Amino acid sequence: MTTEQSSALFKRAQSVTPGGVNSPVRAFQAVGGTPRFMVRGEGPYLWDVDGNRYVDLVSSWGPMIHGHAHPPIVEAVRAAAVSGLSFGTPTAGEIDLAEEIIARVEPVAAVRLVNSGTEATMSAIRLARGFTGRSKIVKFAGCYHGHVDALLAEAGSGVATFALPNSPGVTGAQAGDTVVLPYNDLDAVRAAFAEHGAEIAAVITEAAPGNMGAIPPLTGFNEGLREITRQHGALLVMDEVMTGFRVSAAGWFGIDAVPGDLYTFGKVMSGGLPAAAFGGRADVMAHLAPAGPVYQAGTLSGNPVAVAAGLASLREATADTYRALDANAARLGALIGTELTAAGVPHRVQFAGSLVSVFFTETPVRNFAEAKASDTGRFPAFFHALLERGVYPPPSAFEAWFVNAAMDDDAFDVIGAALPAAARAAAKGEQ
Ligand SMILES: *Cc1c(COP(=O)(O)O)cnc(C)c1O
Repeated sequence: MTTEQSSALFKRAQSVTPGGVNSPVRAFQAVGGTPRFMVRGEGPYLWDVDGNRYVDLVSSWGPMIHGHAHPPIVEAVRAAAVSGLSFGTPTAGEIDLAEEIIARVEPVAAVRLVNSGTEATMSAIRLARGFTGRSKIVKFAGCYHGHVDALLAEAGSGVATFALPNSPGVTGAQAGDTVVLPYNDLDAVRAAFAEHGAEIAAVITEAAPGNMGAIPPLTGFNEGLREITRQHGALLVMDEVMTGFRVSAAGWFGIDAVPGDLYTFGKVMSGGLPAAAFGGRADVMAHLAPAGPVYQAGTLSGNPVAVAAGLASLREATADTYRALDANAARLGALIGTELTAAGVPHRVQFAGSLVSVFFTETPVRNFAEAKASDTGRFPAFFHALLERGVYPPPSAFEAWFVNAAMDDDAFDVIGAALPAAARAAAKGEQ
């Protein structure tokens, strides 16, 4: 597989952009090698600038549940674009998208559209603080909520990939109001509330974490968070930016039915353009400007083209789509497990709904410490053996693998043909 043109572009990019990328994990630092510059996507495949084709198991980090260039979404975008790109006024499509989200996720009574998941979580915690009049936020180690100052402490995703404990540039004051606890540990939550209960505005959690690999909440964990926050007058913010409208029609809420006070969404509801949202209880959302005093705004929020893409993506996401996502996740997980077993590699394939991830360890992975204790040294060899054979997994041991509904037998044949060599590479790849 030649990567000459990607290499040349990466060199050019590095001279004009820090690290050559606009989001850190894209740079391949954790796995080495040359990031692939993509030129086209269709269905389950991506093509890079050197003409190589890949089965895409990243799906733009989540949004592309229908596969790439899904015709109804492309058509909706085209129709919106020719009518004008942005007006800075309300448009009817924003109501349609809000109604679609509210119809799917029962605890959500009102929605505000924003441009990224980061903006959604940033706004949700500001609103939680404004509503409760309290300062502290509880988050869990390994959960990623975007690059919000107060939420970068022990974050997953790229922060984990680069082994950054915290980020320079976040002030002590911003970090000081964040309490970081181990995931899946209700005793730690009870202890934090015993100490700081009256100061805690909210607990923010990934409804089911996917940013330290797929680590579903243990039975009773989300229920426990619901109970403890309610007892102490704190809000529960369910971050469903990754799980929302991917793991079921109603996201993770559709799986465990534990109601949050506020929700954050992004990725799938964007259809692949920059759009995200936060929403929740009517009384809490009523505190948002201009209805209430908590300020939040955005020049391009509710952009008509992004809204058209998001609405088409959600309207296309039917029961059949979710059946296909579940089936494809199960099929992918089984293939990976079979080949790693055949190659004698200690591993666990974990699922959170249709999020899949592979940990090189035999013990259950329930939190960030256990994820980090897995043998991540095997991952680069596993990754590159797949990439070389036309399969594009996430370039980090700490990211979930994202299937899409467009994956067909041909795509699985490519994966099936690549896995035996990748499993053998992982067997040797221990560092
Ligand atoms: C991706 C993600 C975010 C951040 O969304 P961006 O659009 O990248 O800012 C927040 N929370 C979770 C759970 C995510 O997976």
